[in-house]
Amino acid sequence: MQLPKIRPALGRALRLVRGLRFRLTVSYVLFFTLLLIAIGFIFRQTLRSEMNGDVQALLEEEWGAAKGYLSIENQRPVWVWDSTDPEEAYIVERLRHVYLLTDSKGYVLDHSGTYDTIGSDSPAEVVRILRSPKPEIHIRTAKDGIPYLIKAGALRDDRGQPYFLALGRSLEDTERTVNGFTRAYFLLLPAMIALTSIAGWLLAGRAIRPLNSVAQAAQQLTGTNLSTQIPNRGAHDELDHLIDSFNHMTRRLSQSFEQVRRFSTDVSHELRTPLTAIRGQLEVALFTAKTPDQYQEAMENALEDVEKLSSIVRALLLLSQAESGQVVLQRTALNLEEVAADVVDQFQIPAEEKGVTLTSLCEEGTTISADRTQIERLLSNLLSNAIKYTPKGGSVNVRAGMDPERSGWCRIVVEDTGVGIPPENLPHIFDRFYRVRTAQTSKIEGLGLGLSFVSWIVSAHGGDIHVESSPGQGTRFDILLPASTRDSLHPLDEAASESVPS
Ligand code: ADP
Repeated sequence: MQLPKIRPALGRALRLVRGLRFRLTVSYVLFFTLLLIAIGFIFRQTLRSEMNGDVQALLEEEWGAAKGYLSIENQRPVWVWDSTDPEEAYIVERLRHVYLLTDSKGYVLDHSGTYDTIGSDSPAEVVRILRSPKPEIHIRTAKDGIPYLIKAGALRDDRGQPYFLALGRSLEDTERTVNGFTRAYFLLLPAMIALTSIAGWLLAGRAIRPLNSVAQAAQQLTGTNLSTQIPNRGAHDELDHLIDSFNHMTRRLSQSFEQVRRFSTDVSHELRTPLTAIRGQLEVALFTAKTPDQYQEAMENALEDVEKLSSIVRALLLLSQAESGQVVLQRTALNLEEVAADVVDQFQIPAEEKGVTLTSLCEEGTTISADRTQIERLLSNLLSNAIKYTPKGGSVNVRAGMDPERSGWCRIVVEDTGVGIPPENLPHIFDRFYRVRTAQTSKIEGLGLGLSFVSWIVSAHGGDIHVESSPGQGTRFDILLPASTRDSLHPLDEAASESVPS
């Protein structure tokens, strides 16, 4: 019975744990905890070595004093001090608190009770220290666990014989202070970690707040409110960069949606015209035609419009396949001169019929790595437009060859002396269904899709297209395509190129 209630809570907890805020906080707390532990240890070591340094300074002083108060006569230690001076008495008593004196072989001559708990130095140790040029300082721990700082070295009698002298000072205070500090610090640590976690949680929340606004804005996006823009915080950081990218994305999406909307309107409009015509023809056949000839004429007209309708649908299908990446270019090493000559030949008769002179000048041996069908389609579209929009008596010229200005590039130029394109229409002529509607062009038939194809073919080949036009004087399309070098050909392309009959 409890299960249905637990499940959403579990889901929320899982979402929280997987969330960026939680993970940021955990990393922050982990890092801070390690840092605090490291600081604690470093501080503990520093405190210990500082305090040991103080004890060592006192021990050094005592070592100097011991040499003044202690002498050795007949192999026996003799402490000499002014017994009336309480200060001297105190010093000597202090010196003899942790103290050991042996002969040069380690035989103990005198020692303090405390040194008993530390344990005499072994004869080997005594010999080693007596041989070393300087006294040595080391730490030794007594049986009761108290550490002592011991200074050991040689003391000579009046005949110059060496004896082993060791003086020590307890490090108990140091250890107590260091342990006290460690205990207090590590007891405080959980509280510090708890505070760090709270601070981390708040900071992480603050840091990802803009992310949440981006997420909220993204959730609210629909096809109609794509203009949603998130205000930039002006911090010029990564999050601002994210916000800018998001805004940029929504702007582009909005443009694409707008294009799609316009496209749908255009398509319906373009399809409606022949459909209305077909309907008209059929109504004529049904209601007014009486003779077989009238029926036939109505049917023929309807068929013409059906043909127009299917050509629009065919072109649209091809264009959408091309733009959605479904058309794969079959690149081969293409002889541009040959392709251009073929296409120009095909257009000679339509050009003559229209009274337009069609000429071509193509450089021999210009090779491009391209898809033959698409390059033929590109040239056909440009040539049919040029002939279509050039009145009787005009001329159309096609040129192709290596570009003298940019090495590695081929240039195709299709130039006519036709009606031209007004400057305000030029930026749109590559849009789908865009047609320039002027007195000269309104009677010329077309779908407004030819140049969209041309533009796609050029960009699919990695090229560039440029158009210049003067109304009443003519138009010039300039196309740059990467020339083919043997290196730029894919092995498959080469195989394909070999199989193309020349
Ligand atoms: P259409 O089927 O209308 O020719 P295109 O996409 O091929 O469609 O061309 C778009 C528009 O660009 C045409 O309607 C025409 O106004 C203009 N245009 C294209 N080529 C030429 C040209 N050579 N001379 C003048 N206008 C041209």
